[in-house]
Amino acid sequence: MAKTEFRSMNTSVLVAGLSCLALFTPSVGAQDLGPNFRRIKDGIYVQSSREVNSTSTIVLTEEGPVLIDTGQTLLDSREVMQAVRKLTQLPVRMVINTEVHPDHTTGNFVFSPPALVVNHAGASDAMRKAFDPDRANTLAKQSPEMREAAQGYRLVTPHVEYQNKATLRVGERVFELIHMTGVHSEADTAVWLPNERVLFAASVALPGSINNIRPFVRIPDMLAAMKMMKSLNPDVVVPGHGSFGTTKIFDDNERYYTLLLERVGALARSGKTLDQVKQELRMPEYADWSYQERMPSNVEAAYRAVTAR
Ligand SMILES: [Zn+2]
Repeated sequence: MAKTEFRSMNTSVLVAGLSCLALFTPSVGAQDLGPNFRRIKDGIYVQSSREVNSTSTIVLTEEGPVLIDTGQTLLDSREVMQAVRKLTQLPVRMVINTEVHPDHTTGNFVFSPPALVVNHAGASDAMRKAFDPDRANTLAKQSPEMREAAQGYRLVTPHVEYQNKATLRVGERVFELIHMTGVHSEADTAVWLPNERVLFAASVALPGSINNIRPFVRIPDMLAAMKMMKSLNPDVVVPGHGSFGTTKIFDDNERYYTLLLERVGALARSGKTLDQVKQELRMPEYADWSYQERMPSNVEAAYRAVTAR
């Protein structure tokens, strides 16, 4: 009898050990995930962005990983899935999309099912509207590797759409989702982990890069969103594109937009038309930022802001 008890106790210890292993593989470091991953905090790994590519982050929880965005390309999505498999045996529980564009959402299908995809109201409609039914073929033609990565491709839009704010509690983690209006796409979500003090800032402010500003985006709304995100006082800021850092990313972008508004405002007040402003405006302080070809969309947005009644 005593022997049986001993055995059963041993079995339960073994089972507890196995289930621990299933939850986390703590011996796996960021370096084991490959050169493209960095550890931000315990159990939080970002696929380190090549230049200004989009970021994708794995957040481990006791109930399975939560992903924030799914990779610039499907090769990145597959690489994230391989990293997940090294970190845990648990299925991906949720995917949070920080915006609607393909460089954040095309890889949703790699993780869902079983993952539930979440973003703000309006995301699904915008993704369906912009969807190109020929996308899988276009991707497959890029390279043999991409053809392989695109196997099984289909559009996966958010299953859950929240309004304004939402709190997700997954295992021991808390994810606060905050909608930002008119800052980049049809549905932009900042993801705040209050316990870890890590902020996923979507594509409002990009480090060292001129942003692509769509006609419905308002610079004053972008500045308000940066102010709101700074007020959370995060330790780490993970932008939608580029390397992660601190709130300096917001400071640099605020300075850029403030100067842009100032210069475009002065030209507009002197009677210049939008086309003339586009010709004459110079921002030499930011000549080393990438995507200079996006400058016209920035001037248009600044012109809309300074001439708004
Ligand atoms: Zn985008």
